[in-house]
Amino acid sequence: MKTEVAYVEDSGIDDRYEAHDSIKVGEVDLAEPGVNEVHVDVKACGICHSDWHVVSGDNEVEHYPCALGHEGAGVVKATGEAVEHVEPGDHVALTWMPACGKCEFCANGRQELCVRGAGMLQGPQMHGDYNMHLEDGTEVSQYAYLGCYADEVVVHKDSVVSVREDVDLSIVALTGCGAATGFGSATNRANIEPGDTVVQFGLGGLGASAVMAADYQGADRIVVVDPLESKRKMAHEFGATHTVDPEEETPEEFVASLTDGRMADCAIFTGSIALPEEVGEAYATIRNGGELVTVSSSPLDADRIDLPVRTGGLFNFTMGERTVKGSLYGGWAPNYAIPRMLEMYKEGDLALDKLVSQTYSLDEINQGYSDMLEGKNIRGVVEFS
Ligand SMILES: [Zn+2]
Ligand SMILES: [Zn+2]
Repeated sequence: MKTEVAYVEDSGIDDRYEAHDSIKVGEVDLAEPGVNEVHVDVKACGICHSDWHVVSGDNEVEHYPCALGHEGAGVVKATGEAVEHVEPGDHVALTWMPACGKCEFCANGRQELCVRGAGMLQGPQMHGDYNMHLEDGTEVSQYAYLGCYADEVVVHKDSVVSVREDVDLSIVALTGCGAATGFGSATNRANIEPGDTVVQFGLGGLGASAVMAADYQGADRIVVVDPLESKRKMAHEFGATHTVDPEEETPEEFVASLTDGRMADCAIFTGSIALPEEVGEAYATIRNGGELVTVSSSPLDADRIDLPVRTGGLFNFTMGERTVKGSLYGGWAPNYAIPRMLEMYKEGDLALDKLVSQTYSLDEINQGYSDMLEGKNIRGVVEFS
């Protein structure tokens, strides 16, 4: 079989914030679905920053060329042997964490930490071989076992979550990564309670979902920190009560004046990339006993979080009983989170449709990433006919 796919030939650019045209769109040979595999006709794939880290080299994968895209949804075309949970015609979300269901994390309801995650950045698919090849035979890896900026993919059955059929597949796609990660970071990893003050760093798909979740949890004050005026204007639509331009005023000073020096109960960091000093700025907005949840990916050689001395540094991290938590996929299981979020959307409790700012064709993928880097979108989505 042949399919069109967006892929990057190699990693490495000088400026991680600068857009360029290094994502290629071309035809690959796609393997027939083997044992445990599902052939999916992709209908939508969200434009997430994590693919960009594969392009820039901040998060290098072990094998290039690499097919990008990990926030997809579509319709099952065919199934291989030993696939029972879906059949042709079913609507599905694709999850970048192919939970095995048997390891200690899966058994304990923490599928997002499944041992299979260790292989997500490796080359071949789970069966040890590649499902995509360029015309000259070059093996193409699939990012997070998916690579679903593609008309069609063949992926492991554990990467496929069956979903209801009355939700647009562009909305379903968002629950495969950004929306569930942002929402879960605020509801599962953070302990936001009614009356809390929450500071959200960055307003993309994750940040906007975290703001909606903080609002849902009953937070009193939700402060969005973003250098782009367009983002700050949009923040109120998702439930933000205040916004800060970090180029005009430090978030720390703003939160201090807002809370009479008490500071925030919780900060959530979803900036474009987590660097020590930027995460430290977020840490500086929380109170004693408060918590910081870091969601964004970091360069692979980053090895610390700054705890600014003006907040009491490492000494007051302990004495002030402060917490710093990581968050992967929002701390919940894709097989639980995806259907639950779609149910909330259908019930009118979660405005997932507000997250989609713009849609693109596959050929416009570089424009989509350029717009993401310039902060034009909350979420861009590539749609397939
Ligand atoms: Zn993502
Ligand atoms: Zn597992």
